[in-house]
Amino acid sequence: MNQPERESMEVDVLYVGAGPATMASALRLMQEVESRGLEPPTILVIEKSAEIGDHMLSGAVMNPRAIRELLPDFSEQGFPTEYVCDNDMTYVFFPKAKVRLPINPPFFKKKGYHVVSLSNVVKWMSERCEAAGVEIYPGFAGDKLLIEDGRVVGVRMGDMGVDREGKPKPTYQPGMDILAKVTVLGEGVHGTLTKQLINRFDLHGENPQVYETGIKEIWRIKPEKHRPGRVIHGIVAHELLNAFGGMWLYDMKDNLVSYGFVSALDAENPYHDPHLIAQRFKTHPFMRDLLDGAELVRYGAKAIPMGGLYSQPKLYTDGAMIVGDSAGFCNAERLAGVHMAMKSGMMAAEAIADAIAADDFSTTTLGGYAERYRKSWAYQEHYAARNFHGGFTKGLPFFFINEPVRQFLTDGAGLQDEIRFKAG
Ligand SMILES: Cc1cc2nc3c(=O)[nH]c(=O)nc-3n(C[C@H](O)[C@H](O)[C@H](O)COP(=O)(O)OP(=O)(O)OC[C@H]3O[C@@H](n4cnc5c(N)ncnc54)[C@H](O)[C@@H]3O)c2cc1C
Repeated sequence: MNQPERESMEVDVLYVGAGPATMASALRLMQEVESRGLEPPTILVIEKSAEIGDHMLSGAVMNPRAIRELLPDFSEQGFPTEYVCDNDMTYVFFPKAKVRLPINPPFFKKKGYHVVSLSNVVKWMSERCEAAGVEIYPGFAGDKLLIEDGRVVGVRMGDMGVDREGKPKPTYQPGMDILAKVTVLGEGVHGTLTKQLINRFDLHGENPQVYETGIKEIWRIKPEKHRPGRVIHGIVAHELLNAFGGMWLYDMKDNLVSYGFVSALDAENPYHDPHLIAQRFKTHPFMRDLLDGAELVRYGAKAIPMGGLYSQPKLYTDGAMIVGDSAGFCNAERLAGVHMAMKSGMMAAEAIADAIAADDFSTTTLGGYAERYRKSWAYQEHYAARNFHGGFTKGLPFFFINEPVRQFLTDGAGLQDEIRFKAG
């Protein structure tokens, strides 16, 4: 069979994935070139979901710091905030009871954070990107990094019309090659191309990346139980013996609540089942009461990168950069990655603007991304939490003694700094 020829197209900047990291990056890049009087680059974003925002696990309590830096008048522009948190609390749950902590741990302080649907946020940002001249192609999955002479030169899309063994069927269509001066990977956790890049260029961090599974459910509860502005975090004492993790709950518009449970995937117990734990917690008297007469609207699950600072890969190589969850930007102790993802994308964009100005897309200019990161609040935030997950890998007793020492006495170091751990 004569195979159709593979098509190709060229752009200046290619973003893989349309999440908060790449949307913020594309927008910042357009702002930067305009303020520096540079020729606007051609920017393309490819996203594997059919519609932008479809792969976001809706609902997040977002630190507004990054979006405020990106668009200071984001609220006036109609950013889709549902509520601003004005009532944050932490409970310790026991099988039949709960105790509210008199002091909310610093990392669970969420007052002033924005409760959002992440899907709506990404859609809103994508509209701003398109208005600024960014092309966005939903329904296109990057499959393979294109590498020439030791530098990344673009991405090959997945072939269509292949059988289970990968052999072409009569409907075969080869995926297009997109050639770019710089390719920015913002695929979220465990990205296909990110893994290729990290392995090919040996960009591994000092620790391996480790993950938690986040189970999330959106429930419509009785109106009299709905509390706008409430954000609850819960340490579930009896489940901690199985695996590291905890629950959260916050109210969204239309009498909805987002309930979720995260648990680490490096548990030693082979029967550890994150979904079962999330279901089991719904039988707790607190949840039984809340969900009495409620209706399940949506549910889903997704991995969260939890390794922290020492699990971050090197952020760039010749012709490529990694942003957001793909580069381990999630803050493990706060369970917050949206603002870190946005900030990483913005710092990458500033380095790309340098590269455009110098017409040099090598590590010499792209390395400005890592330099900006080292000087940023995002680095300080990651640095303060650097031994959070590592502390847990040393066992529960160590973790509970270490936590106050780490948080309040030693500026994040704890009883042992730079803890090394293995992949779970
Ligand atoms: C259950 C759960 C609850 C969370 N709660 C919060 C919270 O309350 N507050 C908070 O700040 N953070 C929260 N987070 C973390 C936050 O969602 C992430 O840190 C953030 O979404 C990371 O953004 P990103 O742009 O890096 O990646 P993502 O948001 O994961 O976006 C990546 C995009 O890339 C696309 N993609 C992937 N591979 C390809 C490919 N090869 N080709 C084309 N497209 C591709 C995906 O479809 C996706 O749309 C939570 C995470 C989970 C799982």
